[in-house]
This record gives sequence, structure tokens and C-alpha cells, in this order.
Amino acid sequence: MKHILELLRKKVPRSGKAMPAYYRSALATTQIVLVIYFLLVTVMLSRLNHRLEWVPALMGVGMLGCHYSIGRVNCRLNVYAFDLLILIWCAWHTYFVGWNYGAQHLLIPMLMLCFFNIYEPPALKLVTFLLVVFYRMALFSYSLTHDGVYTIDGKTMIVLLQLLNSLTLFDILAVDFITFSSSIQENERELILHNQALHKEAGTDPLTQLPNRRALLDVVHAFVAAHPDEPYSVAIADIDFFKKVNDTYGHHCGDYTLKELSVLFMAHAEKYTACRWGGEEFCFFMPGLNLDEAGIIMNDLCNAVRKMRLRFGEADYSITITIGVEESDFQSPPDAILDKADRKLYMGKVHGRDQVVI
Ligand code: GH3
Ligand code: MG
Ligand code: MG
Repeated sequence: MKHILELLRKKVPRSGKAMPAYYRSALATTQIVLVIYFLLVTVMLSRLNHRLEWVPALMGVGMLGCHYSIGRVNCRLNVYAFDLLILIWCAWHTYFVGWNYGAQHLLIPMLMLCFFNIYEPPALKLVTFLLVVFYRMALFSYSLTHDGVYTIDGKTMIVLLQLLNSLTLFDILAVDFITFSSSIQENERELILHNQALHKEAGTDPLTQLPNRRALLDVVHAFVAAHPDEPYSVAIADIDFFKKVNDTYGHHCGDYTLKELSVLFMAHAEKYTACRWGGEEFCFFMPGLNLDEAGIIMNDLCNAVRKMRLRFGEADYSITITIGVEESDFQSPPDAILDKADRKLYMGKVHGRDQVVI
């Protein structure tokens, strides 16, 4: 009950000429289907009565007018005109043709378009719903005591009229359902893609395109949660005398160095996940590897960095890195293991740099 009351109190945007694309498409298609419907009914009833049936013809013209005025008049006004035509048509059809041909079912798409109209206040939708039910019941009660004015006795005409009303109804429902559902799916798809892009962006370092500290910690915590009994190792690497690169060749050259180093790290990344830990520090997560195995991989990496030649403009130079490696102890949280790796890195710096401390 509370939920319904909240729903009824929801605010709606002020109605203008514009409408959401999916709604515009559904409304426009429905109106065009009905223009064709009214044209066919006019032809059929005119043949039956041997005179022009001007009411369905007028309905067709009115519906065409509604279609033409989409985007030209206020959306709510357009829908009200459309509703009015359907209401008049259902009454006329019940009075002249009778209840058994199903024209009153056109109240369903009318109600559906009312419910999907974002400019229609929820309370008014509820009132419309009750009125439509009441209107339908009133027409039905009338039809119990009154046959249609027209005598339709040819079997072919009965079948054709029934067929036309049914086909029109199902056609409109199919088109509207497809339009609304594909719009919902499309919006959802875009939202998911957008969220994925945002998530990736939030976890990526913009300079090196490596995962950032947050993204790597997510990976480590997820691994520990999923495999509490498996070993893992982490390593923290820091460029030696990086300040010198900046001071000698400029900050852009320093950025270039960080990018090139990241490319090298990515190229060797079969057994680890690398991230930019911050500044000129990088972190490596090696799931399933013990200290010795991790040490071998980090030594290879340290050697590869030493051999890498860097060229930036006139500058032709190489760099070295110092790495501290630590293995999980199955008890301490990942932060504590990373702290230990960081302390080992510091030891490596103190003891001459360009080395791996395990
Ligand atoms: P050490 O061997 O002791 O690590 O010496 P170092 O010069 O590498 O260490 P220090 O911490 O003194 O200097 C790190 C430098 O890294 C300082 C900072 O300007 C530079 N740096 C950090 N992030 C970036 C970056 O994104 N781009 C550039 N170009 N430089 C950066
Ligand atoms: Mg540093
Ligand atoms: Mg450094």
C-alpha cells in the first residue's frame, strides 16, 4: 500500500512537444496502423451499406491528424486526442456494428500508451485505468440489450470484420511491445557498457594504462578470498635514481620512461599482474607462486629492464630497478605482506640498488 502511495506521488516532467524516442515510435506506429484500419473499415462498411461510411473515414482522418501533429503539439494533447478518437470509435462500433467484432479491445493499446507516457501523472493513470474499465463495462452492458444497428449477415463479412479488429489489435500490441522492450534492453546494454567503462577507467592508471593500486588490491583480495589455502607472492619495484632521469632529460622523458617500462612489464606478464603502485613504483601480484618461484621471475624482469635501451629525442639511456619480494604466510592480510615487500625493497636500495631482495 505504501509502495502504491509513493508511486502515485511521483513527480513527472512537464510535458512538451518532445517525447522519448521509443514512445514517439510506438505512438506513431500505432496511429499509422489505425489509419489503415479505419480505411479498411470504411471500405468494408461502405460496401455493406452501399453508401459512404463517413464516421470511420473521419476517424481515419483524425488519426492521420494525430500522427501528423506528433512533435508539433504538446505530447499530452496529442495522446488525449488519440484517446478521444478510440473512445468515440468503441462507442460508435458497439452502437452500429455490435459487440462481437472486438473493436472495444482497442482500449488496451490506448491504456498501454497512457501508462508508458512519462508526462502523465501516476494518479491520473490510475483514474484513466478505472474510467476505461468502467467505460468498457458500460459498453458491454449496453450491448447485452442492444444488437448493432447494422445487420451483418454475410459470413465472409463477419469473419473479415473480426479478422480486421483482431489483426489490428495484435499488430499494435506486437509493435508496441517490441518497441518498448527493445528500448529497455538497449538502455540496459548501454548502462552496463558505460558502467564497465567507468569501472575500467577507475582502475586504470592514465599514464601507463596499467591497473592502478586500487585495482590490484581488488585482485589480491579476491584471490585470497577465493583461495585461502593457496600461496601467493607480491613484489614492489622502484626505479633507481629516477629523479636523475627527470632532472637530466626533462619530465616528459620521465613519463616516457614510465610508459616504456610498463610496456615491458606487460610483455612479461604471463605469471603476474602488474600495477602502477604510485610515482615510479610498480607492484606485482603472483598468484600460486612461492618466494623462490617469484624471485626467479622478478630476477628475469630486473635483467630485462637493465638491458632495455631507451631513446627519447637526443637522450639514449638505460635504467635499473630494485625489487622487494614477499610470500604470503597464510595468516597476515595482504597489506602486511606488501609492507614486508616494501621493506625488502628499501633494503635493496640501501645495499646498492639494481637487485632483487627475496
Ligand atoms: P631511488 O633510487 O632512491 O628510488 O631514487 P629516485 O630518484 O628514484 O627516488 P626519489 O623518490 O627521490 O624520486 C622519485 C622521482 O619520481 C621523483 C618524482 O618527480 C618522480 N616521479 C614520480 N611520478 C612521476 C611521473 O608520473 N612522471 C615523472 N616524469 N616523474 C615522476
Ligand atoms: Mg620511489
Ligand atoms: Mg626511485
